[in-house]
Amino acid sequence: MKKLAIRATTYLVVALLLVLALRFTPEIPDRRAADVLQQGTPVAVSRVVPAPARTPIVARTEHLGRGETLTALLKRAGISEDAAFDVIRAATASALNTRYLRAGMPVEVKSDSAGETPRELVFHLGIDRLVRLVRSDSGWKGSEERLAWKTDTVAVGGTIHANLYQAMEEQAAAMFPGHAKDELAWALADIFEYKVDMSRDLQGGDRFRALVERDVAPNGATRVHRVLAASFTLSGSETSAFRFESKQSSASYFDANGKSLRAQFLRAPLEFRRISSTFGNRYHPILGRWKAHKGTDYAASPGTPVRAIGDATVVRAGWAGGYGNMLELRHRNGYVTRYGHLRGFAKGIRAGARVEIGQTVAYVGTTGLSTGPHLHFEVLVGGVQRDSRVALRSTSGEPLTAREREAFDHLRAQMLASLDAAPGVVTVAQR
Ligand SMILES: [Zn+2]
Repeated sequence: MKKLAIRATTYLVVALLLVLALRFTPEIPDRRAADVLQQGTPVAVSRVVPAPARTPIVARTEHLGRGETLTALLKRAGISEDAAFDVIRAATASALNTRYLRAGMPVEVKSDSAGETPRELVFHLGIDRLVRLVRSDSGWKGSEERLAWKTDTVAVGGTIHANLYQAMEEQAAAMFPGHAKDELAWALADIFEYKVDMSRDLQGGDRFRALVERDVAPNGATRVHRVLAASFTLSGSETSAFRFESKQSSASYFDANGKSLRAQFLRAPLEFRRISSTFGNRYHPILGRWKAHKGTDYAASPGTPVRAIGDATVVRAGWAGGYGNMLELRHRNGYVTRYGHLRGFAKGIRAGARVEIGQTVAYVGTTGLSTGPHLHFEVLVGGVQRDSRVALRSTSGEPLTAREREAFDHLRAQMLASLDAAPGVVTVAQR
């Protein structure tokens, strides 16, 4: 009786184990199963030998440390000192200059299995250049590879809520990641520098649109190639810019009427790219003590270059009470501009000197009655201080000639159609 019970239990356990084994056996390919079944049959069927499963490649990335030798890095990658000599020889033979290796350079290490000597090394010399080294029985062989950048055209646009940097962050960062969105802000500010003071003219609810060619690196890094068209709608009124290669005009951007965006004056004495996004555009230094304060204040780091907003003659460059170090320029048509609280003046800036539009004439400081580094800027017309936003509102620039006008209008129509497209990659018809 007892024997029987033991036997029954044994059968049961064996049966259970079988069930479990079947359940947890990794899936066997059908062919293999068929093969197994055929083994018992007397008919010799050509055996289908399964291809040996390819061992998975183990890949990892090492980075060249600051001051680290290539040999040391290769040792970390699992390559002996003897083999390292062979690797370096092959690498040098194909574009790797061991004297100009940058710290942080990524090196991909691929081997057949963990702990095995690598069979492939990829040195990323730059975002579009690499040297690939492959190990074979005869040693290491290297080859240089160039990776292609891609240029495409994208439409971006949207509502501005605070300032241009924030607008780019909110509306363009997906297409212009990282630093590229700031590059785009700067490019737009440059194009409209005669029309819009990007640090002061934008208000919540304003809108922008842009059609931009961008370069995308193999690793996804993005650069602004050039802006084809853009428009800003500020307080309901639209200012547009279209890139057009004119044979008659040296200007690159023209408004909707085919007139150059260039004008007699720049809208701001500081380049927008010099104004940190952290300053914002709502800076009001407390200058209650200084009653005569009538001007525009630009917060910027000490030493930021100040540019002449138009061709001019220097009237004065020196100390002027509450203004601290002050520069006064006389332009055509009775315009005078003043730049105050300066740290100092650029070389050659003294009374009587001639300066050109955009020329660096001084540097931001905090001299005189000033609570922090900033530029105090004034525009006087006929000896009277005026709101620079009104006084510098530019008149239309030089129009394109009739001969070029047709080509421009054609291009503008294409650009407008693309500007209206939904944000993303667009196809621009070839000219
Ligand atoms: Zn001021």
